[in-house]
Amino acid sequence: MTARIIDGKAQAAALRSEVAADVARFTAAEGAAPGLAVVLVGEDPASQVYVASKAKQTVEVGMRSYEYRLDATTPEGDLLALIEKLNADDAVDGILVQLPLPRHVDATKVLDAISPAKDVDGFHVVNVGRLSTGQSCLVPCTPYGSMMLLDATLPSLKGLEAVVVGRSNIVGKPMAQLLLKAHCTVTVAHSRTRDLAAVCRRADILVAAVGIPEMVKGDWVKPGACVIDVGINRIPAPERGEGKTRLVGDVEFATAKEVAGAITPVPGGVGPMTIATLLANTLIAAHQRRGLTPPPFFAALDKRLFG
Ligand code: NDP
Repeated sequence: MTARIIDGKAQAAALRSEVAADVARFTAAEGAAPGLAVVLVGEDPASQVYVASKAKQTVEVGMRSYEYRLDATTPEGDLLALIEKLNADDAVDGILVQLPLPRHVDATKVLDAISPAKDVDGFHVVNVGRLSTGQSCLVPCTPYGSMMLLDATLPSLKGLEAVVVGRSNIVGKPMAQLLLKAHCTVTVAHSRTRDLAAVCRRADILVAAVGIPEMVKGDWVKPGACVIDVGINRIPAPERGEGKTRLVGDVEFATAKEVAGAITPVPGGVGPMTIATLLANTLIAAHQRRGLTPPPFFAALDKRLFG
């Protein structure tokens, strides 16, 4: 069997156009476009690329983008003061603090300083608590985007066996919560899991969020399973020339695609969905802050996935 390749780039483009159309409606009705503030502390090259890309896509869908680039030595107190200012600013609907933060800054303290209503990354403890108790909330972007890919790929998630490899607060745990909310039977595996290959082979939906290049092999995949590879790992690619690199996921794509029913590629799978979902979350936050019902697209998605 050769798997259907899940086209995250196309799905992300479709989501962005949906968001852009809803932003236009929102702006016409409310007299102002939703605004997203992104805060970057320091000069981490990967973070700089992400932040530039987020700002560009925010403007492309018709939202206002506010960028704050702070020096790596910025004291924690200054960062907290900026967040307080953004919390109070009515033009700002979403606040995202780019991770990782420099060591002298307590990331948990910073994330929990963001107003839960503007927490478009869904990392605030209030949103985490709401997600785990099945309440409506802002959901972390990468897991939410992964759920959208599953929704576009599978007729129904209800009752399926799902295995999530990885239990981080930003990917593994919220992904497991969302799959549970979607009525899957969920197993969360991690670095101490015994016989990980056998656990993975049980999965109708296998999500890899580990950070180890190509760890999940084809013979760990149940025939016909849907594989969501969240991993983004840069590895040396001497075949492309000296010093060259390439991106791979946490799944060995070449072997897994021969067994899976559907699989996300890396790049071009989950990755493009993350920023598109951030824009969607900003739009949702803009509605919720004004007591408006989020656009019908999201209500329909919620109903299909979680109803
Ligand atoms: P973390 O390092 O925070 O978490 C990794 C998880 O993998 C941990 O729970 C860890 O277990 C588990 N793990 C580590 N080694 C093993 C092993 N040998 N067997 C089983 N489990 C193991 O990573 P993140 O969740 O932040 O990211 C995971 C991957 O997703 C990375 O490749 C990252 O680049 C990518 N990513 C992609 C995004 C996107 O937009 N597509 C966004 C965010 C992340 P334990 O808890 O026991 O230590």
